[in-house]
Amino acid sequence: MAKTGAQHLESLRDGREVFLDGKKVDDVTTHPAYKNAVAAAARLYDFQADPENIEWMTFESPTSGERVNRCWQLTKSYEELVARRRAIEGWSRLSGGWLGRSPDHIASSMVGQVMGMPVFENHSKERAAALKDYFQYARDADHYMTYVIINPQSDRTKSTGEQDGECYATAVVDEDAEGITVRGAKMLGTGSIMANEVLFANIQPLKPGEEKYAISFAIPMNTKGLKIMSRRSYEESASSTYDYPLSSQFDENDALVYCDDVKVPWDRVFIYKDTDTARAQFQDTYAHYMQNYQAMTRLMVKMQFQVGIARRITETIGTSGMPAVAEKLGHLAAQAAMVEGLVYGMESGGSMYNGYYVPDRNLMYTAQVLTQQLYPEFVTSMRELAGGGLIMLPSSAEDFANPELNKYINATQKSALGSSEEKVKFMKLAWDAIGSEFASRHTQYEMFYAGAQFVTRNHALRTYDWDRSAKLVDSILDSYSLEDVIGDHRIAAE
Ligand SMILES: Cc1cc2nc3c(=O)[nH]c(=O)nc-3n(C[C@H](O)[C@H](O)[C@H](O)COP(=O)(O)OP(=O)(O)OC[C@H]3O[C@@H](n4cnc5c(N)ncnc54)[C@H](O)[C@@H]3O)c2cc1C
Repeated sequence: MAKTGAQHLESLRDGREVFLDGKKVDDVTTHPAYKNAVAAAARLYDFQADPENIEWMTFESPTSGERVNRCWQLTKSYEELVARRRAIEGWSRLSGGWLGRSPDHIASSMVGQVMGMPVFENHSKERAAALKDYFQYARDADHYMTYVIINPQSDRTKSTGEQDGECYATAVVDEDAEGITVRGAKMLGTGSIMANEVLFANIQPLKPGEEKYAISFAIPMNTKGLKIMSRRSYEESASSTYDYPLSSQFDENDALVYCDDVKVPWDRVFIYKDTDTARAQFQDTYAHYMQNYQAMTRLMVKMQFQVGIARRITETIGTSGMPAVAEKLGHLAAQAAMVEGLVYGMESGGSMYNGYYVPDRNLMYTAQVLTQQLYPEFVTSMRELAGGGLIMLPSSAEDFANPELNKYINATQKSALGSSEEKVKFMKLAWDAIGSEFASRHTQYEMFYAGAQFVTRNHALRTYDWDRSAKLVDSILDSYSLEDVIGDHRIAAE
């Protein structure tokens, strides 16, 4: 048996403190701001538990013997890595890649951390044991995890410790035999309204002297004192699924999280007051590489979806055969295929790391750097292909129910492809993919989820094989000399 959607829904009725529009939300599984996104997450588990899919979507946990999602698998070979990616891809296809923080994202990060266990052992044997045990627990429960690894954006001229206010970033304020007490905020936890557990950590650098922030731990979303402050719900403001097919179904939400003196038991504390291990958690283990390899697999699916929307737009308005438009479509297709090629390249260029087979990290950062720039440009190209047809649409599905308006809709919503109703249905999907508030948030997401551009470009710089390039340059330089041209007729320096 693998975890099902019903089990996931039940697990979310746990008294968590989610706040929206000034009020506390009673039940995220039924609230109009979240229920469809929560149902979309539940469908992921139903998909994996389906007897048709259980083999390729799950594997047997080495500790419990139960089937759990492959995203928890510590891959030992190229074949295992590819099988694991197919499961990630399988989940991504259910939303067209629109669930950015499906449960396989943070599970991938946890896998990468466990692969780098020596980093934690160097920090503390107890903390490393806590991480190992927690990983087994989260894997065996097939938990949906989110993470909060960035401190709230405040004043970038100051370091974390220099910001105003005691409660700026999550910090240790007390400790005793049972555990630590933490207070303060983290910037955003995508999917936190519908996750089971949250990992706290610091991917941005901390300075010596900022040890109270240099912590990492995981807690259930219903932990006493954990406040989940949701952003505006696009799902709730979507008038219907017909009008906003993506916003209404896949708004995974992002929430600022605040710890109001949250107690964390020691067996859930993985890093304690160590600025260098806080950095190493992501950079010296395989965490950052595995989590973003998952993200690239998901983006590969989303680019396939977006290129499908682009072509359908041109077919709908009858421009697909025009040479300039066809050329543009070819360019978009090549960009979508490039992401796919990079994913396969990461896998075939992978290597062994502490006994595990892992994807190539420089190709992962290459994909990250290129797609951060590519995604907003891609959306702009799609908008260019569309013109005003995305806007000249009935105000909502309700217009079809008015016989007079229905007559005018049929008379005005003409298309090179299909009926007025089909045109309106498609154009509303296209708008939700490239122009709505949901679409706009997605552009911001693709530009920032792995860090700002200057950060990912630095990672690409750090991981590129510069020696190989230097050797190539030297091999050409060494193949000729000044003597080849002028012999020994060199003019002696005065
Ligand atoms: C939709 C969305 C969902 C997210 N979900 C999560 C999540 O689930 N969990 C999580 O932990 N985080 C999440 N994040 C946060 C994300 O990781 C951060 O946005 C990202 O790391 C960038 O940090 P920042 O927003 O503080 O931007 P900043 O670091 O402040 O950068 C903003 C801009 O300022 C400029 N800038 C700032 N500093 C420098 C510098 N030193 N040199 C040059 N230029 C600079 C650049 O132009 C940069 O693009 C999410 C973000 C978004 C947008």
